[in-house]
Amino acid sequence: MPFYDRNNIFARILRGEAPCTKVYEDEFAFAFNDIYPKARIHVLVIPKGEYVSLVDFSQSAPPEMIAGFWRAVTKIAERLGVADGYRIGSNVGPGGGQVVFHFHVHILSGPRT
Ligand code: AMP
Repeated sequence: MPFYDRNNIFARILRGEAPCTKVYEDEFAFAFNDIYPKARIHVLVIPKGEYVSLVDFSQSAPPEMIAGFWRAVTKIAERLGVADGYRIGSNVGPGGGQVVFHFHVHILSGPRT
C-alpha cells in the first residue's frame, strides 16, 4: 500500500488550505467540482480520513465510515439533479490512472467534454 502523503492536494482542500468549489459536506464526506471537468457535471467525493485509494479505504476504514461515505455519494448525485443518470468511477494506483493519492470517487453526468 502506498504511503499516505498528508500534503496531497485533496488533504489540503479538506483542511481548507487550498481552494475548491464545494458542493457537499457531512461527517464522512466532502465533495467539490473537478478542476478539469470531463463531463458537464464532474464532482469529486472524498472521505474525511487518510486513505490512499479505494483498496485502502475498503480494507482500513471503519464500517460506519464506509457506509456513510457511499450514502453521501448517492445523496450528492441526487442533489446534483442528475435525473438522467450518472456514472461513478475511482482510479486505483498509477497503472489505473490515479494521480491524487487520497481516495476519491468521480461522479460524472452529461456529455463528455
Ligand atoms: P485521478 O486520476 O482519479 O487521481 O483524478 C484526479 C482528479 O483530480 C483529476 O480529474 C483532476 O482534474 C482533479 N484535480 C486535481 N487537482 C484538483 C484541484 N485542486 N481541485 C479540483 N480537482 C482537482
